[in-house]
Amino acid sequence: MSTHPFVQAAPRPWDAFHDDWLLRSWLARRLPPDMQREIAGELGELSALAAGRLWELQLADRANEPTLVHWDAWGNRVDRIELTPLWREAEQLAVRYGLTALPQERRHGAWSRVHQFALVHLFHPVTDVYTCPLAMTDGAARTLIASGSRELIARAVPRLTSRDPHEFWTSGQWMTESTGGSDVGASQTVARLEDGNWRLYGKKWFTSAATSQMALTLARPEGNGVGGAGLAMFYVETRDASGRLNGIRVERLKDKLGTRKVPTAELTLDGAPATLVGGTTHGTRAIEPMLRVTRAWNSVAAASFLRHGLGLARDYAARRQAFGAALAKQPLHRETLDDLDAQSAAAFLLAFCFVELMGRDEGGELDENGAALLRVITPIAKATTGKQAAAGVSEMIEAFGGAGYVEDTGIPVLLRDAQVLPIWEGTTNVLSLDLLLRADLDAGLEALRARVAQGCKDADPQLKAAAESAVKGVDRATAWHKATSDRDARQAGARIFTLKLGRSLQLALLVEHGSALAPGADRATAIRMAQRFAAD
Ligand SMILES: Cc1cc2nc3c(=O)[nH]c(=O)nc-3n(C[C@H](O)[C@H](O)[C@H](O)COP(=O)(O)OP(=O)(O)OC[C@H]3O[C@@H](n4cnc5c(N)ncnc54)[C@H](O)[C@@H]3O)c2cc1C
Repeated sequence: MSTHPFVQAAPRPWDAFHDDWLLRSWLARRLPPDMQREIAGELGELSALAAGRLWELQLADRANEPTLVHWDAWGNRVDRIELTPLWREAEQLAVRYGLTALPQERRHGAWSRVHQFALVHLFHPVTDVYTCPLAMTDGAARTLIASGSRELIARAVPRLTSRDPHEFWTSGQWMTESTGGSDVGASQTVARLEDGNWRLYGKKWFTSAATSQMALTLARPEGNGVGGAGLAMFYVETRDASGRLNGIRVERLKDKLGTRKVPTAELTLDGAPATLVGGTTHGTRAIEPMLRVTRAWNSVAAASFLRHGLGLARDYAARRQAFGAALAKQPLHRETLDDLDAQSAAAFLLAFCFVELMGRDEGGELDENGAALLRVITPIAKATTGKQAAAGVSEMIEAFGGAGYVEDTGIPVLLRDAQVLPIWEGTTNVLSLDLLLRADLDAGLEALRARVAQGCKDADPQLKAAAESAVKGVDRATAWHKATSDRDARQAGARIFTLKLGRSLQLALLVEHGSALAPGADRATAIRMAQRFAAD
């Protein structure tokens, strides 16, 4: 008998671009062949980096957290935030791979968003949520472009989308105040015109990535009425030419459940100089392009965490023995992992359906139906995938047994970080109400039904029942919406309505994917996953 105590081999992440049947088969099915050839090199490179050096760095960086230094040695208030090593590396990589540049460069036209988010999908789970500032940066560029403000576009957009690390800026999105993150109309920050220039006074309660060089924010111009309509959108540069904060104090960093590498700060705006973007009212409308972009990042992040967790769990199952066999050979454990595969495949397909539509919209390729679909898919995808991420990652933690609960395995952080996805960028309830209260909901539902029907129309014979169930799901949700006029009953049912639509579209996308793949192992897996998801 061996005298050496047993040591369990640690799990390794998969090289998602090569090893994940879903990513591989989806890119092969959806992308134009030229583009596939063109981007395969960089996707493969980033995928190997994510599974190798970045994973190691993330483990090594585990105990580091950002710190806030209020004062320098001589008594000057500096409010400097020191970032963690992996975050510094992540910024360099993000710039090198053009994670905010790609949608602006548009090398692949309407497919540029897919290109960008395929890279984001690989980058996200091993970079400690550095995707948070990237999402806001990408969103700010889009919002400024939509604003038509030539001066601000010329000043900020080249920096937000730069491929030069010395030029690159990130942006914050300062909306939430202590009065409300959902009910932003309750914001108390005041904008005052002083000598012809706007200055902001108030408190922003959650400002992630507080190291950003600029931010888009909401404030109420003095004299404006209450509510969201009385707010305006402002552009703020956080530091002056000498590097000092511009009428801003960083009061403290939040002590959070997760996303602990993200420096989320409470800020006091004490006369911060600001530039009005657009009109002096309806700022909540002006900032909407930002929210669409950040909700797309959120949806991709949800799918990315889930697929990454699945890769780790599958690898562990092959290494871990119990009751005389690898976990991967135990029928019930296999079943558990297959359920997670199906859930995370559904999240991935919905997130990328959203991203595809966004790319086509930015390319001016969407007809009215497509635009209506994009408007409803934005809250649906964010809400559905956010919930799936938190629930799915929790199940993944269990798949590691006790090891999944032990911090230095690098596994628990997944759960803590995934838990933010249903909260920020609109909670599940708030997104559900947004959807249900849309004036154009009927057009959106029609477009959604058409997309579901399109996904199901050439269903493989093994997926006929799944296809019928997807169409029925949308019809049932629509019938509820049409039959329910009582305000309270509508609000109370909004979440079930939204998630029903989300899951029905996911099922249709799974059916479509499985039915469209060429015969082979990936098609067989996709069909199995669609059947499994339908049975859930
Ligand atoms: C880590 C982290 C980072 C963040 N970073 C930023 C940032 O950079 N910028 C920024 O602006 N914000 C940021 N936020 C704030 C975030 O967007 C808000 O926390 C979120 O929008 C919810 O707002 P709230 O906290 O005020 O909760 P509340 O609005 O008080 O909501 C509490 C609960 O009530 C529910 N609820 C609210 N209204 C209704 C209703 N009418 N019907 C049914 N249910 C309702 C919500 O769903 C939620 O479950 C961040 C949050 C976190 C956790």
